Amino acid sequence: MKVVLQNLTKAFPKRGKKETGEVIAVNDFTFVIPDGKLIGLLGPSGCGKSTTLNLISGLETPTSGRIFFGDDDVTDLPPENRGVGLVFQNYALYPHLTVRQNILFPLQNLRGDAKLSKEEMEKRALEAAQMVQIEGLMERKPSEMSGGQQQRVAIARALVKMPRVLLLDEPLSNLDARLRLQTREEIRRIQRQTGITTVFVTHDQEEAMSISDMIVVMKDGVVNQIGAPQEVYDEPVNLFVAQFLGTPPIHVFDAEVKGELLYIGGKPVLEAHGVADQPVTAAVRPEGFRLDPHGPLTCALERVEVMGRDTSVVCMHPNCRNVVIRAIIPAEEKVNESDDEVRFSLKPAKVFLFDAKSDLRIDAKLK
Ligand code: ATP
Repeated sequence: MKVVLQNLTKAFPKRGKKETGEVIAVNDFTFVIPDGKLIGLLGPSGCGKSTTLNLISGLETPTSGRIFFGDDDVTDLPPENRGVGLVFQNYALYPHLTVRQNILFPLQNLRGDAKLSKEEMEKRALEAAQMVQIEGLMERKPSEMSGGQQQRVAIARALVKMPRVLLLDEPLSNLDARLRLQTREEIRRIQRQTGITTVFVTHDQEEAMSISDMIVVMKDGVVNQIGAPQEVYDEPVNLFVAQFLGTPPIHVFDAEVKGELLYIGGKPVLEAHGVADQPVTAAVRPEGFRLDPHGPLTCALERVEVMGRDTSVVCMHPNCRNVVIRAIIPAEEKVNESDDEVRFSLKPAKVFLFDAKSDLRIDAKLK
């Protein structure tokens, strides 16, 4: 099911005692979610992710704009008539009901033509439980299960009605690191298997990048960039997106272009063709540093952290806005930890230039 968000805007009145006016939680959001894809809605706290999801589900009504599921305009439909499956961070299971009863619950409430026979309901509940691999736990109560298992029940409950669209709001936040990884793989598998168009909200960029077909990066209610995860990582449109994606985070330098050369700390570090003379912000991915004894970027060496396959060279540069630089280099390349300095050259594909005032990407050919 294709989902179309057309100029969606949601304004809330400000709630604080001394505040007046409105918060624009979602500002003119237009996007077509292709049929059968998993979309990651990503951004810092308060950027409007949950509000966007609630607009799609019908829990909130937009101030302006329309929402379509396929050709159906669902903007004025209540949530129960939209055919959406919802999964939240807190699993919201009924504690007094067994797993089986929890999964059956949405089916028991179907009315009219949608009403199912008892046998059909049991069959669907079992299929949903099998999909999330909890069919062996059907007679347990939620309190007798781990967080990961409870979240699977919540997913089964969302799937049992065969929703047109599946909406997941930070579904992994209550799980420990290992379970998070496992459950996110599971969500991806189920999504592929069912082909249900899915929107997944998270503030965790790694989570969004790893399972999404496309990510939507939001800030202050505004969509900053939409694209395949790798594409957004490789071609960020502005400094915010560049900084939001990637661990360790990108390194941001106050720099300058003069005579088509990029200078950091007065040293020419790359050729910058097509850029007029101006102060710029240069951002370098951690994997964009190359150890080079004669390289133009000289940094004060702090320490070297060996991380198995890679080595993280922790160092500092006066023009870098990050507290420390973490340059990721292959483990075979050795740095003498007793040295005071380490020198690098930069990999042009891993360096981005941004306008020093607007933070927008500058179209530059770096060499
Ligand atoms: P988080 O990751 O913290 O859940 P989010 O990206 O999901 O954040 P939203 O919950 O969508 O963000 O909130 C977006 C903005 O709208 C915030 O400034 C929030 O304070 C505001 N907001 C959300 N719901 C309401 C409401 N019911 N009334 C007033 N303001 C609201």
